[in-house]
Amino acid sequence: MTEKNNIWFDPSFCLIGGSWQASASGETLPLINPSNGNELCRIARGGAKDIDAAVRAAEAALDSGWGQMPALERGRILCRIGQLVLERVDELAALEAMDVGKPLTQARADAVALARYCEFYGGAADKVHGETIPYLDGYTVYTLREPHGVTGHIVPWNYPMQIIGRSVGAALAMGNACVLKPAEEACLTALAFAQLALDAGLPDGALNVVPGLGAEAGAALTAHPGVHHISFTGSVATGALVQQAAGKNVVPVTLELGGKSPQLVFDDADLDAALPFLVNAGIQNAGQTCSASSRILVQRGVYEEVKTRMSAAYAELTVGPAPEDLRLGPLISARQKEIVEGFLAKGSDLTVAAQGIIVDGAPEDGAYVRPTLFADVPADHALAREEIFGPVQVMIPFDTEEEAVEIANSTDYGLVASVWSSDGARQMRLAKKLRAGQVFLNNYGAGGGVELPFGGVGKSGHGREKGFEALYGFSQLKTVAAYHG
Ligand code: NDP
Repeated sequence: MTEKNNIWFDPSFCLIGGSWQASASGETLPLINPSNGNELCRIARGGAKDIDAAVRAAEAALDSGWGQMPALERGRILCRIGQLVLERVDELAALEAMDVGKPLTQARADAVALARYCEFYGGAADKVHGETIPYLDGYTVYTLREPHGVTGHIVPWNYPMQIIGRSVGAALAMGNACVLKPAEEACLTALAFAQLALDAGLPDGALNVVPGLGAEAGAALTAHPGVHHISFTGSVATGALVQQAAGKNVVPVTLELGGKSPQLVFDDADLDAALPFLVNAGIQNAGQTCSASSRILVQRGVYEEVKTRMSAAYAELTVGPAPEDLRLGPLISARQKEIVEGFLAKGSDLTVAAQGIIVDGAPEDGAYVRPTLFADVPADHALAREEIFGPVQVMIPFDTEEEAVEIANSTDYGLVASVWSSDGARQMRLAKKLRAGQVFLNNYGAGGGVELPFGGVGKSGHGREKGFEALYGFSQLKTVAAYHG
């Protein structure tokens, strides 16, 4: 079977108002397989006209069946989508693996997570409600949770399925109609998901998908006056543009912009438990993870031991084509490889503690880089402050708890942090002191955590997705005050 046989739908179309159609311009863009540099297929080059048509289709859905549908029914449809996703997990994983270079096991985990988001938000759809508020004599006051209307979703290439699940899933659960712009480098699972949603009975126009370039389709979506809420995951620079565009139309935005997340390892930590997390949180998805742990802060008493053990783990890391299902696949693109190599060059003054290996036979045109662990890195070095978005971790020694907190909080970001220590009082102190949207105590990531509110502070963004919190974000509160004497 060739790679193209894995694509069981026409990838060159947009989905608008329930119908698959070419972009208004008729133009297409190449989709490249980062494992070998080959063109996989062509995708639609959607633009402003397609976005406008998609927003109109979403408005029409809100004015018809979808807008009137009880929450219970919306939830049932989402659960059915989740079921169809589960039935096709292996096919979705194969698509993701060839599109973004994710090793099959990791791609499969993403597909399972997508199903879980559909189930979670399907089950929650009819459980979000307003309150009654005790007020003046003669009044009854209550609140209603209502959808924003048309929501725009700009999704990056690193975790397309998971990010679609957490943003589109929550938005649909609350009764919004969505326009989704996937990253031009990662469209296949977005299109497959849309087909499964139609198969599950999602009404026409409730979900529209317009692939295309960020500067064209993405910018048109964020500037469209018919869009009432925007959810964006990606870089700080593009996030700032999205926020500016949304500001012009005075609509709310959720921004999830990555991080420089630290793990703090104290002398009293259970190192056997910590070690797998210290490494995996940095190299999973080849480090292209917003919540990647790229800084490992280690107290001096165990620093040498952690360095030795992490170095040994790095030496075992293998990198190769996604279908080989090694620990790491390629990066998303030749461009991302260049960015990461630029960072490695910036680290030429540092000590490389260990590197993984690119397996023999990995295609020359694949976007492969060796995972790299730097040791004894000054906390103010560029590699300890800037988001790299590749399989690179820095180790920073510290002496005291105060120093560890100061270093941990010293970047512009604040997405995730973790503390490895057996001292319960320290865990509680640091959970409060660390500047991050999520803090993990003696673990990292809690297995993805569909149920756990997620988002950052500082340049990591604002707003929360995942869990029930996302349902509040994708709805607005109306207060009704009735005077009855
Ligand atoms: P971007 O932030 O540019 O892309 C993220 C999404 O935004 C994509 O769907 C992109 O579309 C879209 N987009 C791009 N320009 C605009 C625009 N003007 N208006 C609206 N949408 C737009 O990230 P890159 O792909 O360029 O990656 C660069 C860096 O960003 C990475 O090295 C990494 O540091 C960071 N990043 C962080 C992510 C995270 O999870 N927090 C995810 C991805 C990247 P398209 O791709 O089609 O241009």
